[in-house]
Amino acid sequence: MSNDIVDKLPVMEHFYTLQGEGYHQGRAAYFIRLGGCDVGCVWCDVKDSWDGGKHPLLSIDHLISEVKKTAAEIVVITGGEPLMHSLDHLTQQFKQAGLKTHIETSGAYPLSGTWDWICVSPKKFKAPLPEILPLANELKTVVFNKSDFDWAEKYASVVAASCKLYLQPEWDNAAKMTPLIIDYIKLHPRWELSLQIHKYINVP
Ligand code: SF4
Repeated sequence: MSNDIVDKLPVMEHFYTLQGEGYHQGRAAYFIRLGGCDVGCVWCDVKDSWDGGKHPLLSIDHLISEVKKTAAEIVVITGGEPLMHSLDHLTQQFKQAGLKTHIETSGAYPLSGTWDWICVSPKKFKAPLPEILPLANELKTVVFNKSDFDWAEKYASVVAASCKLYLQPEWDNAAKMTPLIIDYIKLHPRWELSLQIHKYINVP
């Protein structure tokens, strides 16, 4: 764990909503989207997050006070690629404030911070570090085309036995890929379907 105290981070947006994906889908959660990502997914729906320098540096104290204006119990740190930043101090402060810390990461950078839930969503454009995969509580693989099932299985074979496994259709390909995912899950029932329900119910 790094000893750096990073008490300000570039924040693209922060908002209270429902978690739309994966194991905690449907639960109220406060999202903090950090700026900075060099993973380069072609289908990325938050390309504005890539340049961390474009986003204001917000203090962790300020973020906690914003979260505390809501009834949120869970804070989801997402990006961008949040692990481009040291998150040790952030999670320490959030936990001290009584909040549950969740992260959504591609796994391409070393893990920092202390987490109640780690969602690793590997990307083909920059592979996850092998050491992060056994720490994942949830493996969420975005399915863009048919070959992605084999690619997802490669990672499923190295996560912990308790790790939840999700296949999620890439949004613009969802009409084509969702039926294939359903067939795949029926044949391989340890996988589950993750839909981006926030996009269906029109919340951020
Ligand atoms: S890792 Fe996330 S933020 Fe970065 S390019 Fe991929 S989808 Fe976009």
